[in-house]
Order: sequence, then structure tokens, then C-alpha cells
Amino acid sequence: MIVVTNTSISEERIGQIVHEIEKSGVQAHVSRGTDRTVIGIIGKVEPTLAEHLRQMKGVENVIKISKSYKLASRDFHPDDTIIDIKGVKIGGDNLVIMGGPCAVESPEQIDEIARLVKAAGGQVLRGGAFKPRTGPYSFQGVGVEGLVMMAEAGRKHGLLTITEVMTPEYVDVCAEYADILQVGTRNMQNFDLLRKLGTIQTPVLLKRGFSSTYDEFLNAAEYILAGGNPNVMLCERGIRTFESYTRNTLDLAAIPVLQQLSHLPVISDPSHGTGRRELVEPMSKASVAAGANGLIIEMHTDPDNSMTGDGVQSLFPDQFANLLKELEQLGALVGRRFETPKAPAEAFAVWTK
Ligand code: PEP
Ligand code: MN
Repeated sequence: MIVVTNTSISEERIGQIVHEIEKSGVQAHVSRGTDRTVIGIIGKVEPTLAEHLRQMKGVENVIKISKSYKLASRDFHPDDTIIDIKGVKIGGDNLVIMGGPCAVESPEQIDEIARLVKAAGGQVLRGGAFKPRTGPYSFQGVGVEGLVMMAEAGRKHGLLTITEVMTPEYVDVCAEYADILQVGTRNMQNFDLLRKLGTIQTPVLLKRGFSSTYDEFLNAAEYILAGGNPNVMLCERGIRTFESYTRNTLDLAAIPVLQQLSHLPVISDPSHGTGRRELVEPMSKASVAAGANGLIIEMHTDPDNSMTGDGVQSLFPDQFANLLKELEQLGALVGRRFETPKAPAEAFAVWTK
């Protein structure tokens, strides 16, 4: 249930309404929007309380919300959430670009890729130190050492960092080194992991499970929000369909749908969403045109020899840089702010397609 207040309501009145709600043993969640303040109620609301609230001065309406997720819903929080990480704003009309390898492989590899991500205009360096692999004999990531390598590369080149965390036990160490924690598609419903991520304030990029509905996805986000961490981004990374030409089917409609249902920033991953390098550029553009707040893109200096199989979907550095230049122009057309530096083309000249 939500309580919609009058535009002119005072802080004191809001306090009184919250008091009335909490007195009856349910939780109140205040969201101050540009237009009006909305007070969301979590817990079973007795009809007498609803009626009482409806009669209170300053209350315009009391509306029943039938969705199972609350804090993630736009009903509870009408304005876009904007997550500010060391001055980089994610959400609203900002476009954030996260780029880097599937996996951190060596200090030299991640340092060189970080340099190229920065030169192209990206704001966040991606790279997995712990890799969720389908088979147990595949390369599993370099572990904590990879976190150290990535943190150093991010610091040196002035980039934020994002890395995947797979188990609750590793949340604290990953949060110590990375600015954003990624929950992979296979872990979207790892509820112990989600609960643990709710206990910290480090921003989380939650990937959509490859067989998950929007409702399940938003309920997974709700676990993190309900625990007390408001810094959650949603990531569409493709779902499993009958089509086998592409690795997954990037669900572009998810972008506007999730933005209608939720206030959380929506990031698109055209790399895992397609599994094919030649499709990353068009699907990046399509994602931005559909309203994405950001992209997470795999880029590698030597994709043919990357340590995970994801080289086939990784852009070469010059492709990444050219794409970002085009996204700057496209962003201007669709209300997404993004600027690339005036990097000399020679920065990318050694990398060929
Ligand atoms: C990744 O980002 O490298 C990754 C493993 O992603 P996903 O969880 O979407 O497969
Ligand atoms: Mn990958």
C-alpha cells in the first residue's frame, strides 16, 4: 500500500503519518520525489489503518499495490534512482559505459585494457576475478589477486571497477577492492548472496537470470533493497530462447519495461546478450535507443587468446572506441548524456580487427 501526500505537505505532517503507520506494527518507507512525497507501507495493512490514513490531513490518496516487490517498484519511489559513485552518476539521463575483459588475467593485461577503456571514454572497468563457469574444468578466475590487479589498474587510470561476487563469504573482500559488485545471471536467485549484499552499501549490478521473468528479477532486487542497500542496478544480459544462433536473446523490451516498473537504473549487456562480436555494436546502439542507462561491454586486446571463451564476443579496442564515439551522438538524440575524450586515434592504432 502507498500513501500519496499533497504537494504542499510539511515535514512535520509526514512524520505524523509515518508514526501512525509504524504504531500499527508495519514499516513505512518515505520517498521524497520532485512532485510529491510517497510513503510506502511494507507489511499487512488492516482496513482500519488504511481508512484512518485516508482521513489524515495532507493525505491525497491511499492506494493498494498488488506487486510482491515494493522497494524496487516505481509506485514506492516515483523518481529515478541515481547512484553516485565517486562522482560518476548512474541512472537518470546519464549514460555509463563499463568496459573490459571477461576475466582479469594478469596485471599487464588489465592495466593495458584499463588504459584503453579510459582513452575511449568509459567510466568503469569490468573484469571477473571469480568466474562462474559452466564446466568445473574451465578456468575459474585468478581469485583475490585479480581483485588487487584490477583495483590498481582502476586507480591508475581513473576508472571505477566492477567485478562479480559469487558467494556471501567473498562479499566483503570484493567490496574492499571493487566499486561495484556484480551478481551473475546464475546467481540471481542465490538468496543468501542477495541478503548479504543487502547488509552493505556498495552498489550492486544485478544481472537477470537467463530464465527469469521481470517479476522474479525485481523480487531478487527487492532482497538487496529490503536488507538496507538502496544502490542496485538491473542488468539485462539476454535470456534463453529456442534460438541458438546467438548465445542468448537480448530482451530489448526489458529495458523500457523495467524502467516503467522500477526506478532502478537499467544497464544492458550486449556481449553476453548476443555472444557474437559483430552484434555488440548494433545491440549497444539499440539498447541506448531503448533507454538504457548504461552498457557493460566486453573488450580485450587479444580476444583470440582470452582465458575464458568470451573472446568471440569481445570487441577489439578500436571497435570499442569507435562505438563509444557513436554512442555520444546517439545519446544526445535520446536524452542520454555521455562524452568521449578527444583521444588521438593513434591510441588505438595498434589494434586491428
Ligand atoms: C560476465 O559478465 O562475464 C558473466 C559471466 O556474465 P553473466 O553472469 O551474465 O553470464
Ligand atoms: Mn564473460
